[in-house]
Amino acid sequence: MTTPEELKQYVRDVPDYPQKGIIFRDITPLLGDRRIFAEVVGLMSKAWAARPPDLVAAIEARGFIPGSAIAVKLGCGFVPIRKTGKLPWTTVMESYELEYGTDSLEVHSDAIQPGQSVLIVDDVLATGGTASAAVRLMRKLGADVVGVQVLIELGYLEGRKRLQDVKLVSEIVY
Ligand code: AMP
Repeated sequence: MTTPEELKQYVRDVPDYPQKGIIFRDITPLLGDRRIFAEVVGLMSKAWAARPPDLVAAIEARGFIPGSAIAVKLGCGFVPIRKTGKLPWTTVMESYELEYGTDSLEVHSDAIQPGQSVLIVDDVLATGGTASAAVRLMRKLGADVVGVQVLIELGYLEGRKRLQDVKLVSEIVY
């Protein structure tokens, strides 16, 4: 078993990317190590394995990487949550505030049937704006959101406060 502190050795901190003052948490070293990637997929599946949801819904783009692997591990279907204009069919949209302006997430309107249980997955929880918009988007379609699973939580940005009405699990906290 690799401890959370050891897992941090596989996350590259990139200062001032994509803009000055941001430390980007680059997970590509972790993904590139077959033993660590498999272990992380196992860790991110653990809290949900006793009662697997119907679907895993992951957030574009880096959420797709652990998200689809978790879906296979748990025996669930997979739903992509994408940025505006990327999905080909009829969509439902949810907007959220950024530091400057707003951004939106979309999902196909038939991706979830009312009452289906859904686990939301992303790589990093920062301010929580993206994940909380994903929760609202899933609920718009009548989903029963069982929780949010992220690999990395940036505790100093207090994103957890925006997700108080849902179970949130993270593996590595900064
Ligand atoms: P937020 O809405 O502020 O919680 O931002 C979360 C989204 O932005 C996730 O989809 C992350 O992939 C990405 N993100 C935000 N901050 C970082 C960071 N410091 N390093 C890597 N990804 C980040």
